[in-house]
Amino acid sequence: MAPRPREAPPLPAPRPGEAPPEEKRGVSVSSLPSSIDQELLRAVPMHLVLAGCGQQWVNRARDEYHLSQRVNEIDTFLSHDWGTKRWLKYATLLVYFNSVPAALASLLMCMLVCVLIIFRVLDGWLPGTLTIHGAYWFVFVFWQNIRSLYKKNMAFLDRLCIAQHDVDLKKQGILSLGGVLSKSRKLVVLWSPRYFTRLWTAFELSSFLRENEGKGKDINFAPASMGPLLVYFSVFETLLVTSFHILVARYVESVLQQENTYLSSLWHFTATMLVICAPAFLVIAPIVLYLGTMQMKALLQLGKQLDDFKIRDAQCSCCQWNHCHPETGEILLCDRMLVFQTLKRWYPSETSSDAHLDRFDEMVHTELGGFVRNILGNGAPPLWQVLALTVHPLLGFWCLYVYLAVNEHLFP
Ligand SMILES: [Zn+2]
Repeated sequence: MAPRPREAPPLPAPRPGEAPPEEKRGVSVSSLPSSIDQELLRAVPMHLVLAGCGQQWVNRARDEYHLSQRVNEIDTFLSHDWGTKRWLKYATLLVYFNSVPAALASLLMCMLVCVLIIFRVLDGWLPGTLTIHGAYWFVFVFWQNIRSLYKKNMAFLDRLCIAQHDVDLKKQGILSLGGVLSKSRKLVVLWSPRYFTRLWTAFELSSFLRENEGKGKDINFAPASMGPLLVYFSVFETLLVTSFHILVARYVESVLQQENTYLSSLWHFTATMLVICAPAFLVIAPIVLYLGTMQMKALLQLGKQLDDFKIRDAQCSCCQWNHCHPETGEILLCDRMLVFQTLKRWYPSETSSDAHLDRFDEMVHTELGGFVRNILGNGAPPLWQVLALTVHPLLGFWCLYVYLAVNEHLFP
């Protein structure tokens, strides 16, 4: 079985007789500096981060460092743990980055379809409805590709932006994480219940807060289970609204035109409605409820996780692997020691051997804990996300009412 990937690539030990990296690039291997060699400041366009339904979120042996490019500043630093499922992160990133443009696209398409119906260019409402829904889902999936044509959203994803093919580059990339964070405009935390149990993710978030204190940079929490929950709800709503409108339109039409069709009978109409809606209630609604419950449960754990946080107990793969790479057998330096030394530099006034670790724990319990609770609030998704995913099923049927109003002569 392939080993579980880690938050950042393992830091290999220097080769025998090899000069310490500080002699090569002016950084220390004993702690993580906040400055960065410009060569190491790299990012990858967001459409590549999302390509292939989130293929980049699976740790593969293939080195894809070439996908990243040198930048002066990073738009979005993506902080995540590798143990959380790829599809959760993919759906959450789509909701976070693409749902609002998709809602705007469906609104514009709705207005266009209505104008075409009013001027009788479009005869019929169903093609219009399908076009509005199609526009929404197309932009929802491909917005970052469209956006990359005029302005790329450059993101830092550790696997693509830290070299895997070159031991020296890999070391320098990991050692430069503090500098990368200081050059990032925004931090997006793909939070999962594992997040604050891992050494690197807790360090990344704390480091971003510290490096950018008072600079007004954004930290956004995107719980990884929130994306699928909102997408499922959106599909659920679309199915219900679509079934309702198609059946009602057929029923009204048959009654007004005194046709004797199957749907002319109210009993048949009700039975058909139940048959069509049953899958939505029996399949999608339980999934929505399940995901919602899991989300609430995870958020309830968060407060306790922050209160109980101890950097000494945080997990990192090098220690889990006993500092020997399970695939290559390569001896690994301990990331925990590296982070601990960095924390010593953060709190230079602490003289006793472990006091800097206690200071960090205290900072997580108070400042970071307060900050996270404040951002997450009661755990409900932001209103803009909910609106962006729930308005388009309704927009899709405006054209039906416009069509009925314009063509009222059809109904005696
Ligand atoms: Zn270790």
